[in-house]
Amino acid sequence: MTITQHQSETGDQSETLLARCQKCRAELARVDYDATPHGVEGHDPVRFGSADDRVPQFATIAGSQEFARLRNSDEGRTCKECGHVNPVFPTGPWGWKRQVDQTRVVN
Ligand SMILES: [Zn+2]
Repeated sequence: MTITQHQSETGDQSETLLARCQKCRAELARVDYDATPHGVEGHDPVRFGSADDRVPQFATIAGSQEFARLRNSDEGRTCKECGHVNPVFPTGPWGWKRQVDQTRVVN
């Protein structure tokens, strides 16, 4: 795993999560999203929730949850280049789903 982080100094904050095949390095799954924070021009209140949410989802966590769902699907695990079926990414220790679910409950 590699994490490369670039904080935008101007404009919207874009984030991407992607996974590569363990066997051939081809791209397996990718989720791009806007992570411009609540209260900053360019924030999209409905990307991960509703416009009237009192507690906005934290885009990085909600994006990670969305990515994990795709990455761990049969489609997201099976390489389109070489056919290798990659192992499931362990999401439990990260707590992304729990935080997204709890934020939905609060709202
Ligand atoms: Zn592959």
